Amino acid sequence: MELKRCARCGKFYASDVEVCQECEKKDLADLSKLKGFFAENYVSGVSKGEISASTGISARNLNRYLGYEEFSGIYITDGFNDINENLDDDKISL
Ligand SMILES: [Zn+2]
Repeated sequence: MELKRCARCGKFYASDVEVCQECEKKDLADLSKLKGFFAENYVSGVSKGEISASTGISARNLNRYLGYEEFSGIYITDGFNDINENLDDDKISL
């Protein structure tokens, strides 16, 4: 196990996961909000800015979550900036 820096609060901790234990709880709460958003309010091409405004999840955290495999098939436009545009072919419509 190596010492890692929490992706959320910047604290150093020893674990194999991406965030420290405290932030893991916050991450789980955010993720459930995010999943709720996708289940209820998702429209194809929704922007990250809209998701952030609707869920209260910060841009930085949202970008991190959207990198997760479970969200990889969801098509979202980048409402924050134009970098990191992933124009994949595997768009889905829910
Ligand atoms: Zn943390």
